[in-house]
Amino acid sequence: MPKVLVAARTFGKYSQEPVDFLRKHGFEVIVFDKEDLSSVISDVDALIIGTPKVTENMLVNSHVKIISKHGVGVDNIDLAAATRLGIPVTIAQGANTESVAELVIGFIFSLARNIVFAHINVKENLWPNVIGMEVHDKVLGLLGFGAIAREVAKRALCLGMKVASYDPYVSKEDIERTGVTYVNFDEIFKISDFVSIHVPLNEKTRNLVGENELKIMKKTAFLINTARGGVIEEKSLIKALKERWINGAALDVFNEEPLNPSSELFTCGNVVMTPHMGAHTIEAVYRMNMMAAKSIVDFFEGRIPAHIVNKEVLSKLQKRG
Ligand code: NAD
Repeated sequence: MPKVLVAARTFGKYSQEPVDFLRKHGFEVIVFDKEDLSSVISDVDALIIGTPKVTENMLVNSHVKIISKHGVGVDNIDLAAATRLGIPVTIAQGANTESVAELVIGFIFSLARNIVFAHINVKENLWPNVIGMEVHDKVLGLLGFGAIAREVAKRALCLGMKVASYDPYVSKEDIERTGVTYVNFDEIFKISDFVSIHVPLNEKTRNLVGENELKIMKKTAFLINTARGGVIEEKSLIKALKERWINGAALDVFNEEPLNPSSELFTCGNVVMTPHMGAHTIEAVYRMNMMAAKSIVDFFEGRIPAHIVNKEVLSKLQKRG
């Protein structure tokens, strides 16, 4: 009986259906709730993985045949090693797009109206005079114009915001067809009242937003990051928040997760933080669960799973039959 190691916090948590689906198709399901997989990976045939790291060393010392990412960001998986070893890596493409987009809209209102600050004060029996701003007519700059950014754009346009985006891999025509203005990289930071980051984390995007970008932002502007912590230079962001180069930030993702208790972000009064929960809605979790489980079943039953990110492995797999 092939074994599936599940290292994803919300797999099977709100519905038993994905676990039953795997069992019905003859898999043993092993749930693992720690971050370091090295002690358990050697004995399994497939992985359903959330945030724990999957290294080359782990893969070489295992007989894992497929990795199914419970989400879309694959920066915790050594993709090059998986490809070299002929291991397909699948993602739950589109499963959480709306959920992340909705969190971004929540962040926009939270920042614009100081909702978290106001809530904390009222809970402490204080009644501060809270002044916010309208989002109508404000500029939302989207760094990256992929699936999530497009959903954010649709919602922001409905709110009467002006939306601009920079994405070197999407044409100006493609962006402008959606009612969004195409701008260059620097302009995103210069013109926006809210900058929201929607790029994947890779060698090109690591620390993409640093001191330069934060310094050219408006002093009244807010930065939102629901993509990956590593895209922003966290030290520069802390400086920007403390020295008020920008008005504030809302962060769902961090360089180190869970956030290190010694992080200076805790001492910044103008930041709203959430525990990497962008994809955590009942609807998105159900879709991610089922897509992840289906990839594994398809693969072991001889079908090509959907949404393989390292398609190069397909020729190797087809040769092996
Ligand atoms: P996507 O692949 O559809 O879009 C990413 C876009 O970024 C693409 O259009 C790409 O062309 C663009 N891009 C790449 N490099 C760029 C650069 N240097 N400058 C500007 N644009 C660049 O991905 P998506 O589904 O929209 O997700 C975006 C990211 O959000 C994911 O990679 C993931 O890391 C993160 N995410 C976070 C959560 C969460 O829980 N907070 C959930 C899902 C996804």
